[in-house]
Amino acid sequence: MVVLKFGGTSVGSIERLRKLPELINREEDVIVVLSAMSGITNLLVSIVNSISTKNIVKASTTLEEIKSKFVDTASELFSVENSEIAIERINKRIDIISAEFGNEIGEGKTILAQGELITTEMFSFYLNTIGVSNQLLMATDFMFLDEENEPNEKELPNLLRSAMSDSHKLFITQGFIAKNINGEIDNLNRGGSDYSASLIGAALDVKAIEIWTDIDGFHNNDPRYVDNTEPIEYLSFDEAAELAYFGAKILHPASIIPARKKSIPVWLKNTMQPKAFGTLISNNYLSPGIKAVAAKDGITTIRIQSGRMLQAHGFLKRVFEVFDKYKTPIDVITTSEVAVSLTIDNTCRLHEIAEELMDFGRVKVRKDCSIVSIVGHQITTTPRSITRIYESFEHIPTHMISFGGSSNNITFVIDAENKTLALQTLNTQLFTNKTHV
Ligand code: ADP
Ligand code: ASP
Ligand code: MG
Repeated sequence: MVVLKFGGTSVGSIERLRKLPELINREEDVIVVLSAMSGITNLLVSIVNSISTKNIVKASTTLEEIKSKFVDTASELFSVENSEIAIERINKRIDIISAEFGNEIGEGKTILAQGELITTEMFSFYLNTIGVSNQLLMATDFMFLDEENEPNEKELPNLLRSAMSDSHKLFITQGFIAKNINGEIDNLNRGGSDYSASLIGAALDVKAIEIWTDIDGFHNNDPRYVDNTEPIEYLSFDEAAELAYFGAKILHPASIIPARKKSIPVWLKNTMQPKAFGTLISNNYLSPGIKAVAAKDGITTIRIQSGRMLQAHGFLKRVFEVFDKYKTPIDVITTSEVAVSLTIDNTCRLHEIAEELMDFGRVKVRKDCSIVSIVGHQITTTPRSITRIYESFEHIPTHMISFGGSSNNITFVIDAENKTLALQTLNTQLFTNKTHV
């Protein structure tokens, strides 16, 4: 069995949807995990924001836009008779969204889920109309979150297997969507379909997980900010996990973890160019050296300066307890004799955290930072690489540097406004002339 995940652009147009049957036609059993058609989740987020600010007119206009996109797609994809069936199903889901308009919707997760639900319902029906037998699985029947809002990986294999009928070889399901412990529709955060695919693949011990997207694999730098980036053919699980965690948008931050636990190879493939090799992520560290650079925005640094740190034990423990209390993960940490600096990306409880940290000393918060990570195999032990990396930051003020936490990663924290310059300079220094690294 294989898991094939198709992202928004891969299901974002008639042309793409018509191509999918070819790509999913395999010898072995297949589970297809789909995202919402491209742009839909952003529009749903906008509806949630409009409802929260009681701007129902705007919410209605955005909903019309979503409806038109799906109805237009259905009208072109199906025969007249079948398009009526498809449009009736679309309308049912559009009604679920509009029924929420007057309500207190919180984060509006029921609304956010409808993009994946409509897309999978439409695609499963499309396969039926062209004679490809398949079973549509509802992610809310097997993808449950625990008290910590983490996927319940223990229950997943049994739940999935009991949802899958023996008479099918092809299954279609939604990425992103889950159900929380209160029985409400929830999700795995933005970009979460990659994570769904990896969780499903690990639960079923599949042969491979394929993530189909709009680019020919993992590139050595962020193509949204840097020209002339290149695809990397092989990455280890550790390298890919670090790159995803530190901002490479091509993969959800947690998506490699389930696959790594079961040593299931993950392929990144381009739907527009299926013949391109893409990237194979596996247990092999094929070669030492720098593989790629990634950046993560929305970072806040917190610096605690305290005379009491000097020769005191238990200081860091007490600092960490504050973050633990407010369930806020720390990404990067550096210490000196008199200060400790940390970064967080979830600032929901920043106010309370800063207040409590003031018991330890002076607290300085700096917002709008970015983390820039250079990832590879054994890079911290290669002096030439290190020199090249530091030279790239010659003209960029740096707030923190993390080196040696693992031999795979060197991380810089800089002002967000310098991120593009840092990525571009690193590209020139590290990849334009590869003999240097
Ligand atoms: P999907 O909708 O298929 O999940 P995403 O937009 O989430 O696709 O991820 C693919 C995009 O990630 C690419 O189009 C590219 O702009 C961006 N990206 C950022 N960093 C990288 C990288 N290192 N390699 C490849 N793509 C990257
Ligand atoms: N549709 C969701 C999003 O846009 C999940 C995904 O695409 O992976 O975030
Ligand atoms: Mg994605």
